[in-house]
Amino acid sequence: MAKETKQFQAEVKEILDLMVHSLYSHREIFLRELVSNASDALDKLRFEEAANSELKTSGAEKHIRLTPNKDEKTLTISDTGVGMSYDEVLENLGTIARSGTKEFLKKAKDLQDSPELIGQFGVGFYSSFMVADKVTVVTQKAGLDEAVIWESTGDGSFSIDKTTRPEGNGTTITLHLKDFGDDESAQDFTDQWTLKSTIKKYSDFIDFPIKMEVVREEPELDKDDKPIEGKTKTTIEDETLNSRKAVWLKDPSQVSEEEYNEFYKHVTHDWSEPTERIYYKAEGAQEFTALMFIPSQQPFDYNYRDTKWGLSLYVNRVFIMDNCEELLPPYFRFVKGVIEANDLSLNVSREILQKDRQIQAIKKAVVSKLIRSLKQMMSKDREKYEGIWKNFGATLKEGLANDVGNKDKLQDLALFHSNETGALTTLKEYVERMKEKQKEIYYITGESIKQVECSPYLEMLKEKGFEVLYCVDPVDEWVMQSIAKYDEKDLRSITKEGLELDDEDEKKAKEKEIKTKEKEYKGLIDTIQGAVAENVKEVKISPRLVDSPCCLVSGAYDPSARMERMMEAMGQ
Ligand code: ADP
Ligand code: MG
Repeated sequence: MAKETKQFQAEVKEILDLMVHSLYSHREIFLRELVSNASDALDKLRFEEAANSELKTSGAEKHIRLTPNKDEKTLTISDTGVGMSYDEVLENLGTIARSGTKEFLKKAKDLQDSPELIGQFGVGFYSSFMVADKVTVVTQKAGLDEAVIWESTGDGSFSIDKTTRPEGNGTTITLHLKDFGDDESAQDFTDQWTLKSTIKKYSDFIDFPIKMEVVREEPELDKDDKPIEGKTKTTIEDETLNSRKAVWLKDPSQVSEEEYNEFYKHVTHDWSEPTERIYYKAEGAQEFTALMFIPSQQPFDYNYRDTKWGLSLYVNRVFIMDNCEELLPPYFRFVKGVIEANDLSLNVSREILQKDRQIQAIKKAVVSKLIRSLKQMMSKDREKYEGIWKNFGATLKEGLANDVGNKDKLQDLALFHSNETGALTTLKEYVERMKEKQKEIYYITGESIKQVECSPYLEMLKEKGFEVLYCVDPVDEWVMQSIAKYDEKDLRSITKEGLELDDEDEKKAKEKEIKTKEKEYKGLIDTIQGAVAENVKEVKISPRLVDSPCCLVSGAYDPSARMERMMEAMGQ
């Protein structure tokens, strides 16, 4: 069979056209794509070797190698993987069989408008044409004796022929790099620092070593190991560029505490150790691995409006994106870490992620896992849990108002201060302490514990021995209204009208007393009413107070005093 020239499938032409003419940012992702393909090919070989002990291979160490050549302006990426047969080359490097790429094409128009999105896409082998004007592939399939050479300038056709590959099975891809002229944003992919940092960024956790001969200029030393001025020698050393430490994929029993902590610091840039680590390997319908951490303090930028959050997403050890907000609800924005999913397509963008059913399933499973872990910690190590609550409780509480599906579970995680115990209490513990006569769960909202502690509203309840929860976070007003009922008991704000603390006999006695007092003090009430008429609806003799002379009460259907203040602050 002689050398043949063939036309690319129409969709491939479209992709190539886009690569060459429209995409200018994130050109470096071509390397991520080629390394990911090489890693897949090595995985496949590992698998085939295990399945077939007769398989003839070169026996070479499984690795990926980058070979830059400054003079020739080429970059070669080679692997010792499974390789491709003639027909497989035709099939894989001439057509598009994958739905993901078709999806990409549909999206491509938007991409031209927002090119920063391209970095989040996996665009496969053809992305090499972003940086190369000619690509040569030499490949030999494991178990076969002959190799195949494929070549294209990305302009609609490619050539294919038989050849030899002395190294045996594997694939070598040579990129003849484009000359970007004086485009300053163009990176030089024969530069070893550029290659090193690109590998670090996108492919650090690839399981196989990615090697490169690194050239160093070092001063020449004299007999006493002192540098000789003006003299340098060149050393060449084979270096592995990736750390290969996909800690989240290792069996937790094989990972030391230090290794986990180091990884945490690497992802978060936090200097202190995390307070909790949550590892989760989900099997079954949705397979993924999650390694998550809860920081031991609020990050300095935690409360800034545009602070990014979310987990890092990896697919088959290839980095897809940081801060993937689609994987966590906002009320878990303090959780850091990574998710590795195996059957997701590499071709993902934010828009696709938001609608992706697999991503939604992962998110749901992750939330359940986090809630379960927190609950467990609460009963096993209350002190640690309270530490987390102090830092992130106000955030977590947002879930009570926003995540109806998990409300019942989240309300058991909530902690409150109260007048009864010096410590934080759960609703469950509160209910266990409730007095026999007590029908409802009482709470008071306010600015600070200090302020609510000396509130006159508390007096009656204190006298009856009823416990009152102190709700002093800005979200609490909404949170308490969202919970509404716990263990079939209503939650009642003690600053609102309609607070019924007495039984029938007590009520009758008090009504009688108030009637007499109303007569006795009619003159005084009228005078006060006259004086404050502008600001106050009604002045009443009240059974509510014990020590204080007076207090302001909101109507049962009016916003509470605190809510009113907040609305005022917002200009309403
Ligand atoms: P994807 O990796 O998503 O399948 P690509 O465009 O990156 O899409 O690659 C297309 C196909 O070409 C791969 O599925 C694989 O079969 C084949 N291929 C690419 N690179 C290699 C390689 N280094 N070794 C063996 N096969 C390869
Ligand atoms: Mg690929």
